[in-house]
Amino acid sequence: MSAARPLHMVYGGTFDPVHRGHTGIARAARDALLAADLEVATFDFLPNADPPHRAPPGAAAGHRVAMLWLALAGERGFGIDLRELRRGGASYMVDTLEELRGELGPEAPLVLLMGEDAWRGFDRWQRWQTIPRLAHLLVVNRPHADLADPSPALAALAREHALPLSQLAESPAGGLCTLSLPPEAASATEVRAAVTLADTAAIAAQLEPAVAAYIARHGLYGAPASAAS
Ligand code: ATP
Repeated sequence: MSAARPLHMVYGGTFDPVHRGHTGIARAARDALLAADLEVATFDFLPNADPPHRAPPGAAAGHRVAMLWLALAGERGFGIDLRELRRGGASYMVDTLEELRGELGPEAPLVLLMGEDAWRGFDRWQRWQTIPRLAHLLVVNRPHADLADPSPALAALAREHALPLSQLAESPAGGLCTLSLPPEAASATEVRAAVTLADTAAIAAQLEPAVAAYIARHGLYGAPASAAS
């Protein structure tokens, strides 16, 4: 067993837009790590680039990043890593983790945070079998997600790589931890639909006020200009 080192957390997504589900689980995951006496060196949100050669399905990357800054303003301990936007092209997590591993060196524990729905589709990610060699996976529960059964390949990965949270800092990569957090029901799909329908109650329930105001100001997701507040 090697010595415990501070963790480097990455939380990738489209964040289209960032909502209380994202910020809530990031906070709760960080608190759970600290409660387990683990040291967190960095905890970065990692927005992916717009898809190449076609219009972004929701808001363009510049807007998505602006909303992330607003959602995280005043939060201590979280950063935003813009490498996938700078790199351009399709954003593949495996490329990003290879870059990070090169920067952090072979020993630093690197942890990829994801919701359970993302985990269920993990075996469709580019070069997914390489990812456990680069990072640990920390999978959190996601309420109301329409979850497919894990494929046999994922079930095997979960079995063979299972690691208790308390041991995350003792190796650089290769573990799979599951963490049950207070449920956060928000979803970006629901937020976009609520904005289009000007459903102010659903918007207020799922978005930080500054993010909701930004969406209204820029007319994102079909927001009527009158929704600005
Ligand atoms: P969409 O509704 O368009 O699928 P999303 O709400 O899942 O979007 P993403 O940017 O795709 O947002 O999610 C980034 C990561 O955050 C994924 O790993 C996803 O599983 C996780 N996530 C998003 N919302 C929640 C939530 N409410 N609870 C737990 N995990 C979440």
